[in-house]
Amino acid sequence: MNRVYNFSAGPSALPLPVLEKAQAELVCYGNSGMSVMEMSHRSSDYQKIIDDCEALLRELLSIPDNYKVLFLQGGASSQFAMIPLNLYTEKKKADYILTGLWSKKAQKEAARYGDAKIIASSDDKVFNYIPKIDKSMFTPDADYVHITYNNTIYGTKYAEVPDTGDVPLVADMSSCILSEPVDVSKFGIIYAGAQKNMAPAGLTVVIIREDLIGKAMDICPTMFNYETHSENGSMFNTPPTYTIYICKLVCEWLKENGGIDAMHKTNLKKAEIIYSFLDSSEMFSATVADPKDRSLMNVPFVTDSEDLNAKFIKEAKEAGFVNLKGHRTVGGMRASIYNAMPVEGVQALVDFMKKFEAENK
Ligand SMILES: *Cc1c(COP(=O)(O)O)cnc(C)c1O
Repeated sequence: MNRVYNFSAGPSALPLPVLEKAQAELVCYGNSGMSVMEMSHRSSDYQKIIDDCEALLRELLSIPDNYKVLFLQGGASSQFAMIPLNLYTEKKKADYILTGLWSKKAQKEAARYGDAKIIASSDDKVFNYIPKIDKSMFTPDADYVHITYNNTIYGTKYAEVPDTGDVPLVADMSSCILSEPVDVSKFGIIYAGAQKNMAPAGLTVVIIREDLIGKAMDICPTMFNYETHSENGSMFNTPPTYTIYICKLVCEWLKENGGIDAMHKTNLKKAEIIYSFLDSSEMFSATVADPKDRSLMNVPFVTDSEDLNAKFIKEAKEAGFVNLKGHRTVGGMRASIYNAMPVEGVQALVDFMKKFEAENK
């Protein structure tokens, strides 16, 4: 069977060269005589894999030396609890900006341990925009501010990093990490579930400024304490070894293809192809109207008929464009066009949409 164009929001498509490399090394890795899956995480072969993965991430994202890179489990969803448990001081005050389901979940979890104030929200319009933020909205003595940088379900993204002054900014970048350059020094914590743009499921990457480590609340479980993982090189317990190995291959692939700047250019081109079609089509439209709020990675779109949406999803699937059904809270369609989706895949989808529109006028 041929590979399809996979527009899944996550777990999502991986670059074909990465899968082929993993296949070639699956049974015997290097001179180890075994698969990476079978290796002790304490072996020197494996230590090199995790060290290389970290070094590549640091290089690709220009991560400053005063930040740690942690390889954790539990998904981005565990971070929703780890962040307040590690960052709340005696004040237990945080600011949350609600831009979708994931930020809502993050806020709800933080509210279990302290005062997680909602300072802005786009809930009034099914999260189809990024609220306007200015400095005066932030609580001056908050322990941190939390944002979801790219909203996987609703297809929005911050056009710029909010200026929170001295208050650490915490960002969920699950669905946009490695897709465009970011100035890591503007953030206290960046975290991402790997299964969107980095690796298969099972790994959560946390990039954290060192001074935010080691101040966890007393009730914080050992496994939820950043210090536990920071002091043990992400090997306090068994890390998700194989997923970290694939993450390393993905980073190598990115580096070989020009790094994050080159990837960003390609991503801008892909987004331009699909959004410009959506803006000119009489049948399809993007649910996020303001171009500055639009995600480069997740593109939700609709027709004005549920029947037509269903027909489109069915026929697209038959033509080899899969996982285009939108999230149940938005309806319609969503094309997730992460790094692994080539320009040709987006162009082929748009060509298919044009044909579908002509046939169903
Ligand atoms: C997918 C996703 C999550 C949830 O990730 P898990 O790893 O499944 O917990 C959280 N935030 C964002 C922005 C996501 O896209």
